[in-house]
Amino acid sequence: MRQSVLASLAAALLWASLALLLLPAGQSASGSDPLPAPTREPEAAATTESSAPPASELCAAPAEPAAFDTGCQLAVLTEDGVVRMDLERYLTGVLLAEMPVSFGREALKAQAVASRTYTLSRCRNPRHTEAAVCTDSHCCQAWRDPAEAEPEARAQAEAAVRDTDGLVLLYQGRLIDATFFSCSGGRTEDAAAVWGSELPYLKAVESPGEEDAAHYTDELRVSLADFQAKLEALDHEVQLSGDPCAWAEAVQYTAGGGVASVTLGGRAFRGTALRKAFGLRSTAFSLSLSADGVVFTTRGNGHRVGMSQYGAAAMARAGNDFETILKWYYSGVELARAEE
Ligand SMILES: [Zn+2]
Repeated sequence: MRQSVLASLAAALLWASLALLLLPAGQSASGSDPLPAPTREPEAAATTESSAPPASELCAAPAEPAAFDTGCQLAVLTEDGVVRMDLERYLTGVLLAEMPVSFGREALKAQAVASRTYTLSRCRNPRHTEAAVCTDSHCCQAWRDPAEAEPEARAQAEAAVRDTDGLVLLYQGRLIDATFFSCSGGRTEDAAAVWGSELPYLKAVESPGEEDAAHYTDELRVSLADFQAKLEALDHEVQLSGDPCAWAEAVQYTAGGGVASVTLGGRAFRGTALRKAFGLRSTAFSLSLSADGVVFTTRGNGHRVGMSQYGAAAMARAGNDFETILKWYYSGVELARAEE
């Protein structure tokens, strides 16, 4: 960290105050991808090894608050190894990888704030010993080198980051776990329904206008043999015999319209477990069983907790600004400058 003593002291003070705002290592990253990629399940938060350098060395806070993002240096684990870059360049690359610029300026600004909030949380609780974040979308956030992007797209992504310089989302004074995903299918999900722990700002909300998303609804066909094999792997006591139409019994739903659990062959299966076992796009699904096989019909794409990217695009098209979008998807949060 090449900083003057004064700058280092200022950074230390800033991070000491920021530490009060930061959550302990929470749910993983974004589950986001508006592009036709598989949905992402947050992975278990990695524990930080004791040999890890202090967070202040992975993410040096700015000495000049007027331009928070350009003053914040970040260690990013890329395919080419650890690269140090400022937060503005990192977030511009995240936007280019996570959201098409066609989603609109206010949606891009909402994504920039959500991604900045997520990044600063990771700076405090890094998953990697040598970097604050990585560029693997399944672990942290996707990233694309802005230098390789088409100039007009790069300019729009960069503008969204600059227009929201230093802005983050807080809940009761702490940085939130700003999860996001591609498409909810009409309603987002409670954090507790997916990850088991309640977060007051990650509650199910309506998310209209997503119908043009590539995977708003989808179908997955599975043979009876595959269906049986996967369920038996999940629970060896499951009894699947006789008429397949009678295999499915009671279904319980979550607040966000996902499957909390479904009883199949006399055993209860969690929607999240079925999503993982069958690679379903979301836990919001219905099942159709017949002698010909099983058809899952899914709504949405992703874990459906937090901000829907297609929903943000719809709200932007309807004339909402980025703050309205963020406060819609993250209940009870406030928008604030990170250094305050
Ligand atoms: Zn990572």
